Amino acid sequence: MATRNLLGGMEGGGTKFVCAVGHGPEDLLDEIRFPTTSPDETLGRALDFFEKHRPRLAAIGLAPFGPLDLNPASPSFGAITATPKPGWAGTNVLAAFRARFDLPLAFDLDVNAAAFGEYTWVPENRGLDSLVYYTIGTGIGAGIILGGQIVHGLTHPEAGHISLPHDRARDPFPGSCPFHGDCFEGLANGPAIGARWGQPADRLPDEHPAWELEAEYIAHAVANTILMLSPQRIVLGGGVMKRLHLFPLIRRRVREILNGYVASPVIAGDMEEYIVPPALGGRAGVLGALALGRRALEEAR
Ligand code: ZN
Repeated sequence: MATRNLLGGMEGGGTKFVCAVGHGPEDLLDEIRFPTTSPDETLGRALDFFEKHRPRLAAIGLAPFGPLDLNPASPSFGAITATPKPGWAGTNVLAAFRARFDLPLAFDLDVNAAAFGEYTWVPENRGLDSLVYYTIGTGIGAGIILGGQIVHGLTHPEAGHISLPHDRARDPFPGSCPFHGDCFEGLANGPAIGARWGQPADRLPDEHPAWELEAEYIAHAVANTILMLSPQRIVLGGGVMKRLHLFPLIRRRVREILNGYVASPVIAGDMEEYIVPPALGGRAGVLGALALGRRALEEAR
């Protein structure tokens, strides 16, 4: 009989799903990526992937896009709630897996899983007990770890929708968020950059003024995060942050905004090890989901 020790992880993004089985970043046995279409088709493909590994699977971590119902006492626990993504509002991801797999199942937000992945697997993060992971791409969100735990609270943080200073003389773009207009996501997500400058963000050269403005918004969000949570590390991931020339612009502006007020040698220094790209790259989410699966297995024992 096969040993049942394999961990499964599913990162369910708004544009693509990534599923993997294995034991960690250096030990993945199988992995699949596919576009996010209808809930039935997309979850069907994910379920079929894990079905192949059923005899050896010990636990699965599920990390779809949100907003999610993360309250175990709620009747809709496990569901995607108010998403504008057609067809997905009310889809219960956890229930779909419970119906097929009698295994420990973990369930959390995709960006929370990415934060947990960086926190769990990256050697430089061992010994920390706090970390914030921002994803800045088509959407913006943050996973927050404090005291070694993923912060949920009432529902889960929605740090992509905080308000930031918006100088309308410098930037007349009204913002792209259907809920708030010029919140952080409305001003700084990939579609906002494209709409403001009339061409897709990935076609804008490094020296384009778009990036100085983008760094301005991200730096304000990062400075607010430092002031509010005092995390020991801030990871900036997602499609927009693949433009690595943003990092020095952001670090410089964060230092200017804080203006010497936060008394830490980390902030006084170059912040090159404080405000960082994800060490796991585009795999932070799925590897975090794997780590969530491992935690669910430990808790079930
Ligand atoms: Zn918003």
